[in-house]
Amino acid sequence: MNTNHRGNFRGFGVYVALILIIVLIWYWLSGNNAASGYTKSRFVEDLRNGNVTSVTVMQNREIPTGSLKVTLKNGSQQSLYISDVNEIQTLMEKNGYSDYALIDVQRESWLMTLLPYLLIFGALFILFVILNNNAAANNSGGKMMNFGKNRARLATEAENTTRFDNVAGLKEEKEELEEVVDFLKEPGKYTKLGARIPKGLLLVGPPGTGKTLLAKAVAGEARVPFFSISGSDFVEMFVGVGASRVRDLFEDAKRNAPCIVFIDEIDAVARRRGTGMGGGHDEREQTLNQMLVEMDGFGVNEGIIVMAATNRVDILDPAIMRPGRFDRKIVVGRPDVRGREEILNVHAKNKPIGEDVDLKQVAQTTAGFTGADLENLLNEAAILTAREGRAFITQPDIQRAFIKVGIGAEKRSRIISEKEKRITAFHEAGHAILFHVLPDVGPVHTISIIPTGTGAAGYTMPLPERDEMFNSKGRMLQEIVVDLGGRVAEELVFDDITTGASQDIKQATGLARDMVTRYGMSENIGLICYKDDDDEVFIGRDLAHARGYSEGVATAIDAEVKRIIDRAYEEAKRLIGEHRDVLERCAQLLLEKEKITREEFESLFEAQPA
Ligand code: ADP
Ligand code: MG
Ligand code: ZN
Repeated sequence: MNTNHRGNFRGFGVYVALILIIVLIWYWLSGNNAASGYTKSRFVEDLRNGNVTSVTVMQNREIPTGSLKVTLKNGSQQSLYISDVNEIQTLMEKNGYSDYALIDVQRESWLMTLLPYLLIFGALFILFVILNNNAAANNSGGKMMNFGKNRARLATEAENTTRFDNVAGLKEEKEELEEVVDFLKEPGKYTKLGARIPKGLLLVGPPGTGKTLLAKAVAGEARVPFFSISGSDFVEMFVGVGASRVRDLFEDAKRNAPCIVFIDEIDAVARRRGTGMGGGHDEREQTLNQMLVEMDGFGVNEGIIVMAATNRVDILDPAIMRPGRFDRKIVVGRPDVRGREEILNVHAKNKPIGEDVDLKQVAQTTAGFTGADLENLLNEAAILTAREGRAFITQPDIQRAFIKVGIGAEKRSRIISEKEKRITAFHEAGHAILFHVLPDVGPVHTISIIPTGTGAAGYTMPLPERDEMFNSKGRMLQEIVVDLGGRVAEELVFDDITTGASQDIKQATGLARDMVTRYGMSENIGLICYKDDDDEVFIGRDLAHARGYSEGVATAIDAEVKRIIDRAYEEAKRLIGEHRDVLERCAQLLLEKEKITREEFESLFEAQPA
């Protein structure tokens, strides 16, 4: 992508030139009277005082203007521009002076009078042209003068090398966009038949699933310019800036049609209106309104296609999805196993991958990973490989990168006391056993008591093997049991407990509360949603309305949450108690090796003590 800075420099030059021209013209104009200091009132005064020896009136033929040449008693010559010759004649006669000479001046003089105005006009015209060109060339927006300029980055057709081949998986999505590409390439084909091509497409999906990539690929395939801007760029501290940036962006786009305008994170501007705390007429709303006006403003087949991306359709203003605006929605989801394998293949292409690497297997064990996660995974593996001076990425490198991406880098350097290590070992062993014995969670990928970059003393990482759309009640209950396993193990082994389980407890509580208030999974509360998952966006609305349920319901919810947690706790205690021997051996092994793999862990269950 290219940001153009040349325009700023040129802009500066233009302002200097403008100031110079104004100063020169002012000088030139004032050279006739004001600069010599001689004015009409001074002249009248001189007349009354009898200071004037002779006056020559030079009158223009076509217009009533002219000038005076005045000789004063002290011999000095003054000249004076006059706007009405007749008036000055009357004035002189009134003051008893009729001895003046009257000369008709020719056309040149008349031109001379107009010349300054022509100059000003010409200068302004030139300035206008230059500024206009500047605006076209300059998309970056400078410092001072360019507040209202859009911040869009422009990738011209030559710069944009992204093609559909770079986007792995997403087959249906690409097919749907194929049509847009075709239209941009050959608008005539569609307009001839009176077909209406959508003006706006909304790409919806979690972060990192390839929305930006997809939009860019459409522009790349169609060989048209790609304007990209983020919704948050519109929202600035100065009122009105957002709206003027939108206007400017669409002007640029019109000049470059056919083209694609891509608005990332559109939710930053297009949140439902009327939900702001301060009554609603805020900056964001103005920006959104301007955007709607612009989208309604250009014709259907003008060759501008606006694509926008968001991961939160639920908070978008319904107005933007009306026909003629973003009336097509393309859902870009997390990739499935095959999609993940394809994405890994795309990103492995430019990396030296060792013989032993099985990308299919990597794809199988990365359920829930987005394209960006997978790209990151291979990149981390490459970094690890490079750091150790090896030429090829191996499967163990990818394993290590997997932990880094999933958990955060391990910090071997932090010093931990033996006691702390022991507690952590039992805590993690507790989680691991429950992952293993409960049917719907796990299996365990790695258990470690090496502190992580995120501040945890250790971790138990399950293998994300399943692609699942829904979470079931049974599985959620099991997750809560697993969460509590760390604390339960601590209790069983030590007579004291630590704060190490606070995160686990928070997670378990959150899950239990969601089950009760969002998913209708409790026994006494029923199928009622008591939780609005819209976050701070709707503070305004939530304050305006009541909480939505009574104190009685609040108490019932709390009781229900407590019951779920209590049961899970008992279950965890029972299961870990049953596998007390594994717990001891697992903790022992952890203290020895600090990190154990799935195979090592699972063999602990087989090796029954003699
Ligand atoms: P989003 O805009 O949805 O947040 P991006 O398009 O910015 O995601 O994706 C970030 C990065 O992840 C891309 O630059 C690309 O390297 C990688 N990526 C995501 N999805 C895919 C995909 N389907 N195929 C190939 N790479 C992908
Ligand atoms: Mg993006
Ligand atoms: Zn824990």
